[in-house]
Amino acid sequence: MRTWQWLTVSILAIFFAFCGYVFQQVRSLEVNQITNDLYVIFGLGGNVAVLDTDEGTVIVDSMTVVYQGEHIKEKAMELTGKPISLVINTHYHSDHTHGNPAFDPGTRVVATKRTLHHLQQTDADYFSGEAAKLMPNETFTDAVEISMGNKTLRLIHPGRGHTDGDLVVLFVEEKTVHMGDLFFFLHYPNIDLEGGGSVAEWADTIGKVLALPFHTVIPGHGIITDRPKLVQYQGFMRQLAEIGKRAAAEKLSLEETLKTAALTEDRDYEPLNMILPLGYTREFVLQRAWEEATGAFELRP
Ligand SMILES: [Zn+2]
Repeated sequence: MRTWQWLTVSILAIFFAFCGYVFQQVRSLEVNQITNDLYVIFGLGGNVAVLDTDEGTVIVDSMTVVYQGEHIKEKAMELTGKPISLVINTHYHSDHTHGNPAFDPGTRVVATKRTLHHLQQTDADYFSGEAAKLMPNETFTDAVEISMGNKTLRLIHPGRGHTDGDLVVLFVEEKTVHMGDLFFFLHYPNIDLEGGGSVAEWADTIGKVLALPFHTVIPGHGIITDRPKLVQYQGFMRQLAEIGKRAAAEKLSLEETLKTAALTEDRDYEPLNMILPLGYTREFVLQRAWEEATGAFELRP
């Protein structure tokens, strides 16, 4: 073969190997059990909780593509032996909602009013036609309690942080909370200022969650953990907010802020990858803190 032919073959081989890798990542789901009735499914996207109740299976979030939604449906059926009767979306981002269309039309889908608003603003095309039935169809503003036979779910919007519409789910009998993306465990978080997120308010928002009765914590991304780790994360957010506040008060440029920031509560944090790096790095969170404090961003209507 000539050089260009070798080159073409090599590029195609790399391309197909990458496609194979992506497909394998999308396919792979790993299950951890927390209690008799509560599981977490890890995969490419936000962590999915599965709760077995007398009145059917509840899931929290649905990952990134419909194919994963189908797979979650099967896994949940394997774990509980019951079809999914309630889906909860912690917030509007695609890695937590784009599996929704895999579920049966008529399934209850619960989210906050702000999450529905953001989905309508940013994802109307995705949730068109039949998929529109799997948009959140029950919404609330501050809090709602849902009884499912032998289980109680308390859904709370504790305030702004990752977006302005995040909810957390307290599984009352399991003494466990699903934090959605208000908590990236051991990873730098995405901070969606354009979607109403706030570094400045995030620590207080976590404070409201800490008032709830739980000991186990399911983060939106990262492994299952406990209350002290959430307290540590609150400290990280408080420090980040202080850095932003100081930068604004002293009129520091972004470069000066990045250079002088005394961010120490991020020991062991790593950027999150989903096949490719997502760009949620130390610099990214410092930049977002600076942008919020100095008003250098544009809020989406
Ligand atoms: Zn998110």
